[in-house]
Formats: sequence, structure tokens, C-alpha cells
Amino acid sequence: VLAVAESDAGTGNTLRTFYIASNGCIRRRLEAQRVVDFMLANGYSQVSDGRNADYLLYFACAACSQDEEMAKRAIERMVERGGAESKLILGGCLIKTCHDYCHSLSQLRGVLLPGRLDEIETMVRGTTPMSSIPRPTRVTSVQHDEPGEKAEPLKNEIDGGLQAFRRTCETVVICQGCLSACSYCCIRFSTGRLESTPISEITGTCRELYKRGSKRFVLTGEDTGAYGIDLGTDLLQLVRAVSSIGPAVEIAINSMNPRWMCSKVDKIERLLQDTVSIRHVHIPIQSASDRMLAAMNRKYSVGGVRRLFDVFRSFGEDCQVHTHLIVGFPGETSQDLEDTIRFIREYSDIHYSAFPYSDRPGTASFECKQKTPSPMIWERLKKIRGVLAETNTLSPIEGA
Ligand code: SF4
Ligand code: SF4
Repeated sequence: VLAVAESDAGTGNTLRTFYIASNGCIRRRLEAQRVVDFMLANGYSQVSDGRNADYLLYFACAACSQDEEMAKRAIERMVERGGAESKLILGGCLIKTCHDYCHSLSQLRGVLLPGRLDEIETMVRGTTPMSSIPRPTRVTSVQHDEPGEKAEPLKNEIDGGLQAFRRTCETVVICQGCLSACSYCCIRFSTGRLESTPISEITGTCRELYKRGSKRFVLTGEDTGAYGIDLGTDLLQLVRAVSSIGPAVEIAINSMNPRWMCSKVDKIERLLQDTVSIRHVHIPIQSASDRMLAAMNRKYSVGGVRRLFDVFRSFGEDCQVHTHLIVGFPGETSQDLEDTIRFIREYSDIHYSAFPYSDRPGTASFECKQKTPSPMIWERLKKIRGVLAETNTLSPIEGA
């Protein structure tokens, strides 16, 4: 029998309903989905509106100040609707970034850090442990709060072309955390150091899904490029193993820091030649200025990125590439911006998403004195988006 939360014990109360929502990425929403499955397995029923729910759960994103503000507003609205008796459980990346805020909420019952969902057993009564709840590969019943205040994305910016693929795919989390210390990033405070799932476990999950008819897999993690370093293997071996589970398997790889892949270009080329079907790769480069990459502590060069992209591009529309750019990083000069624009024009057949630099407390860039003024960040972002709109030549993934 799981631990019984102190204030529930002996009260005779029957706590039966819960409401759950998230503004986070697929990784946090898959965690929220697993919590849904846990709550249902323990006899709670899910309600679609938080009014008078016994438990209110929110998996919050803190990637930028807009996400953080949005999460806080959503949590406050939810608590107001839920009423004084409801109990609040917070999950996701906001917990570490906004520790004091989270712990100032009077209804807070507890927090669930990424990858630490077992903790819920100390907050919710039940007899089915979290360890017996399988990791979901689809999100079916978590309310998703969209970031409404953000600029309307360009057509090809939406999920970098992955959206169509995602409608018919399973998302498998292959690792959590990373081994990097990018100077702008607060995500790592919540997600911690790299913990990879063994290849046998991942292929076991994919094989089960394949038997049920799924042939498309998105492999994700905070940094899939680092996958396996802690286990003495690597991402390419994993991709080979997943692709060999049966005919017609298609793979997408999400959030791959180029740091680990630039030195493996030859191996990637061989992998793609060996009929491994990688349909989509998401490789966030953040800038195409070597000076900015050094300031961001990304540990790769634009030359390395070019070689990496060239390999994937050589497989044409069969393999789509999606990247992220940060605009207005501290110390960014107009020359740095021009370097990135030149790159976009040269690599016009890949998907881009461009984001304004967002100052995150506790990061190295937060302490930087040479901040780009906010109006200039937005002006530069507009310029980048103008170039993207003008150069975009992409078509959707075939057959998706
Ligand atoms: S991992 Fe990043 S994008 Fe996902 S919820 Fe956390 S901060 Fe947001
Ligand atoms: S690789 Fe860099 S950006 Fe990604 S989670 Fe780690 S520190 Fe953050």
C-alpha cells in the first residue's frame, strides 16, 4: 500500500476527481499522461474542468519568460476555479526555475520533477504504484494550453514539419537530461544529468507497438545527441536497433544537440545509406555565428553544422531537417545576425523556428552585462522571420 498523504489520513474524505493540464513540450505532456494513467488506475476520475476537483495537476514549461508567465496564469486560474479544498500538484520544468513561486502557493501538496513521478505516491492515496504504469507514447487526455500570446508561427515553423508525421507516430522518450551547460539554458536545472534508457528497453517498447501496427517512432529527450554516453553506446546504435525491428520502420529524432553529432558525419551517412529510414531530424543550432556559439557554450562550429546538415540534405525530401535559432543573444552584433541570415539563405530547404532570446534566472547569460535591448531583439526576430518567409521552399512530408 502506498504512503497516505498526511492530511488525507483518517479524515474519512473520499478524494475522487482530478484535473490535469500542461503548457509543456511532448516530454512533459507524456509525463502528465502517465500521471493520468496512474490516477485512473487508483480509482480517481478525470474531469475536464477544474471546478471542485479534488486534485489539480499542472505540468509547466519554463523554457522562456512567456512560457513561465503563461504557466503561472494557468495555475492561478486553475486554483481559483478548483476552490479552497482542492490540492495542487505541480510537475515540469517550472519547479526548479521558479522554486519560491511554486512553494508560495498555499494549496501546493507536492511537486513532481521531470523523471521523478514516483513522488506522487507520497501525495495521492492509492494501491497501484507508479512503477506498474507503462510509459505512454501518445498523449490522449491532457489538456494542452497553447501559448496564445506568442507571434503566429510561419507555416513551416509549426513543429518543423513534424506535426503531420506526429499524427501517426509513437513518441518514445529515450533519455532525460543532458551533459551540456549551454549558457542560456534553465531546462537542465530541472532535468538534471543525462540518464539514458537501455537500447533493449527502447526496442522492446517499439517492438510491442510495431506488433500493434505502429511503424513510425519519434525518439525524444532533452538531448538525444548525447544518448547512450552514460551507457557506453550512442544514438546511432539505437537508431539502427529500432530500425531493425521490422520492415518499413520510419524514425524521427527530436532535440539532437549537434555537439555530439558533428564528429559522426561519416557514420550517419553510412546509417542512412543502409536503408535506415530517418524521416525527420530536429537539430537546434541556435546561431550560425561561431562567436555566438562560443558565447552560448554550445561546443560546435558552424562548419561542423554545415557538414552535418549536408549529409541529411543529401537524402533530399526523404529526410527533413528542422532547426532552432535564438535571436538577440547577449553581445549579438549585426554581423552575427548577418552570418545567420546568410546561413538561412544557403540552407533554404530546411525548417526553421526562430525565438527571441529570453533571460532565464540562474543561467550564465542572465549575468551577462551586454544584453541586446528588447526592441532590438524583436526587430531582429522580425528580420529573420522575413527572410524565412521569403526563402521557404518546403513541402510536407510525403505520405504523412
Ligand atoms: S523540457 Fe523545455 S520545452 Fe519541455 S517543458 Fe521543460 S522547459 Fe518547456
Ligand atoms: S543541451 Fe543545452 S539547451 Fe539542451 S537541455 Fe542541455 S544545457 Fe539545455
